[in-house]
Amino acid sequence: QEDDFKKVISHAKEYGYVFQSSEIYDGLSAVYDYAQNGSELKKNIREYWWKAMVHLNEDIVGIDAAIFMHPTTWKASGHVDAFNDPLIDNKDSKKRYRADVLIEDHVAKIEAKIEKEVAKAAKRFGDAFDKKEFLATNQRVVEYQEKADSILKRMGRSLENEDLADVKSLIEELDIACPMSGSKNWTDVKQFNLMFGTKLGASAESAMDLYLRPETAQGIFVNFLNVQKTGRMKIPFGIAQTGKAFRNEIVARQFIFRMREFEQMEMQFFIRPGSQKEWYEKWKENRLKWHLSLGMGEDNYRFHDHEKLAHYADAAADIEFRFPFGFKELEGIHSRTDFDLSQHEKFSGKKLQYFDPELKENYVPYVVETSIGLDRMFLAVFSHSLQEEELDNNTTRTVLKLPAVLAPTKAAVLPLVKKDGLPDIAHKIIEDLKWDFNVTYDEKDAVGRRYRRQDAAGTPFCITVDHQSLEDQTVTIRHRDTMEQQRVAISELKAIIHKEVDM
Ligand code: ATP
Repeated sequence: QEDDFKKVISHAKEYGYVFQSSEIYDGLSAVYDYAQNGSELKKNIREYWWKAMVHLNEDIVGIDAAIFMHPTTWKASGHVDAFNDPLIDNKDSKKRYRADVLIEDHVAKIEAKIEKEVAKAAKRFGDAFDKKEFLATNQRVVEYQEKADSILKRMGRSLENEDLADVKSLIEELDIACPMSGSKNWTDVKQFNLMFGTKLGASAESAMDLYLRPETAQGIFVNFLNVQKTGRMKIPFGIAQTGKAFRNEIVARQFIFRMREFEQMEMQFFIRPGSQKEWYEKWKENRLKWHLSLGMGEDNYRFHDHEKLAHYADAAADIEFRFPFGFKELEGIHSRTDFDLSQHEKFSGKKLQYFDPELKENYVPYVVETSIGLDRMFLAVFSHSLQEEELDNNTTRTVLKLPAVLAPTKAAVLPLVKKDGLPDIAHKIIEDLKWDFNVTYDEKDAVGRRYRRQDAAGTPFCITVDHQSLEDQTVTIRHRDTMEQQRVAISELKAIIHKEVDM
């Protein structure tokens, strides 16, 4: 598993998808740059989402709000007081951990330990082995696991103060069950705010303290009435947005899964109070359908319903995806009640109400939101698509089976040789296709190597121009996933590619 993930990271670099930011200065932790192919893939994912959410839903419109917002926004939203991660320091190693992640790691270790014991016992007992019975007689580890699981479930962004002592003692207990850092010398758990601060204004006296937004949602809430009025929107309706968000994450690991600067794709759906249950279920279903439409396998997704809810929510679920390091949150669907709009009413002194022409009454709408990280979606698509395939002739090939609709380059045009006028035909084909698709030209190396290179880069089609093309205006088109080749007229290329790559 770890090796698979390492391959994902090195492949992302080698094929121009993702680079460490400021690499020549040894990088900046948890900050990444998208390269020539990565920026295309990211843009395609964003467009795929935008089309599904905004263009295909008549009752959803999109906006693009600023990253800087009035500082009172974050008091109203609760982020100043409650957007915290629980931190714990190890006094011996002087290392700092996020308490929930530390517990997660402990649990994973204990699980691995149990698995090892189970495998050993299975070998010893052979056919007579009963896993359930075996576990039941090894109560101690199982108890720890249950305890850890229950704390994990209860932990949310807004850990109550009285929970912190619990968290510390759990870490100590887990340390005894399964020593992790070789130390039991922990500080108390502290809350650490995740927002990045900055200043607006030239002189020290007049400068205003600002935050970089930690979520895009608030830009939608503060614009709710502007959009509703100018768009003459009737409830239920939604506002969607994509854009950067910033969080001073303590535990920066797992590549682009958890970044300090990342992009969100969010949609807030404004509804009548009382209808939230129905819309929450509908949006859970809709969003799962969107994921499944990419064909990455139903088994790779699951819902995780939250037991402990954030301060703003009355129901919340994650869509989890099977990443190379296990099932983890990819998207959140939250029933946020009227919390945000009511808070903004309170802090701004402005009414944020809707007059419902059918009910003939004013109310603060309820909100169901869908929130997905674009970078996390990128990682899901990229890691799932990267495959090593055994071929018939006992060789293997590395192929990046990106959904064609998302692939950065849709086709590579390859002249079989660099002479006899074949490059000219190839360039003409590019001239014709480039208005519809992102296409590329490649004449270096033997054609077989060029195919492998395009497979690894995720290009769904290779179009090869050979001597026959000079005579009858046909080329071969090779499909990345099946490696099948067809002879087709140059004039047919556009239609063939459109059929596969259009949204
Ligand atoms: P996590 O528990 O993983 O920190 P979260 O529950 O805080 O995530 P939300 O605040 O619900 O996440 O944000 C919505 C989505 O934004 C997440 O589902 C995830 O896809 C994405 N996201 C959140 N934090 C990050 C981050 N640091 N880097 C990349 N994507 C992120």
